[in-house]
Amino acid sequence: ALTAGIVGLPNVGKSTLFNAITQAGAESANYPFCTIDPNVGIVEVPDHRLQKLTELVKPKKTVPTAFEFTDIAGIVKGASKGEGLGNKFLSHIRQVDAICQVVRCFSDDNITHVSGKVNPIDDIEVINLELILADLESVDKRIDRVGKMAKQKDKGAVAEHEILVALKEALEEEKPARSVEFTEEQQKIVKGMHLLTAKPTLYVANVSEDEVANAADNEYVQQVREYAAKENAEVIVICAKIEEEIAELEGEEKEMFLSELGIEESGLDQLIRASYNLLGLATYFTAGVQEVRAWTFRKGMKAPQCAGVIHTDFERGFIRAEIVSYNDLLEAGSHSAAKDAGKVRLEGKEYIVNDGDVIHFRFNV
Ligand code: GDP
Repeated sequence: ALTAGIVGLPNVGKSTLFNAITQAGAESANYPFCTIDPNVGIVEVPDHRLQKLTELVKPKKTVPTAFEFTDIAGIVKGASKGEGLGNKFLSHIRQVDAICQVVRCFSDDNITHVSGKVNPIDDIEVINLELILADLESVDKRIDRVGKMAKQKDKGAVAEHEILVALKEALEEEKPARSVEFTEEQQKIVKGMHLLTAKPTLYVANVSEDEVANAADNEYVQQVREYAAKENAEVIVICAKIEEEIAELEGEEKEMFLSELGIEESGLDQLIRASYNLLGLATYFTAGVQEVRAWTFRKGMKAPQCAGVIHTDFERGFIRAEIVSYNDLLEAGSHSAAKDAGKVRLEGKEYIVNDGDVIHFRFNV
């Protein structure tokens, strides 16, 4: 499964956030294929459509889809030179598919800040610089060899060399690999390089309890937003401490607590959805009387691959998919009404699944 790694300097609230994640934790019996690892927290992906489908179909059971966060501890200044848990940290980060960088935006004199005072931009730059230096090392290692091959007119090497040169130039200017514009073809090659700064990234601004409802007023948050805008990155504002409390609540209790705080959706729910989007993930549904369930797929996946998310046998024996969009189904009021209205389609192997498709797969076993 794809996973988002939670990183940040010491004392910014990573563990507090990760606690909230494990506390909110998805019921693991529903997700036997998920990773079992103390550093991985599995959460349910909030989706209001699931509630509506449940009201419509009245199944015995409703199961949300899940998402994994990985806690990556141990970055300090100098990590790329192997300081602290440096190399270990970098190898952990290499394994995740997206990065959620927690940034301290709360002042609290009792909690030491590693560099003496709260300065979110400095913090971000410390981390990003370590990642940039590590990538520069990877690029440098490769560029000479590929350069020699390119001189011998090796076509693949010529293409790769061009990319490496562009990357080196950006990294030397302390810009992340994701800021370099490449063609789709080139992006595939970049992906294979597993660079740290090529990973999609979002920033998590951790504010104090009394500021979470009016986060727009927080000057640190404003600074993070400005910084993130320059890299087209998203910012999610949370109060990790409150998220720990929210994570213990469910349903109405949770809604009441949120409205008391003056927020519509918990920061964690926002973070889950943002991470999901960042990874290019989307949701389709299966809706039967036994079970209404949400499933995760990567945007662009075709019907048989999506069937394979449920079970590999479904992909192997795929015949057709019977599909109605969530909106059409809801508007029609029932599956048979949707069918009468001509909204239920039969699609084949080449169909590219959309977010919100409600699917019944037909397959041979
Ligand atoms: P980590 O080192 O990044 O994992 O940071 P921790 O999660 O251990 O948090 C460091 C300290 O900051 C702890 O004492 C937390 O209770 C405190 N802390 C974390 N988040 C918040 C927050 O949102 N508000 C306040 N006031 N303190 C927080």
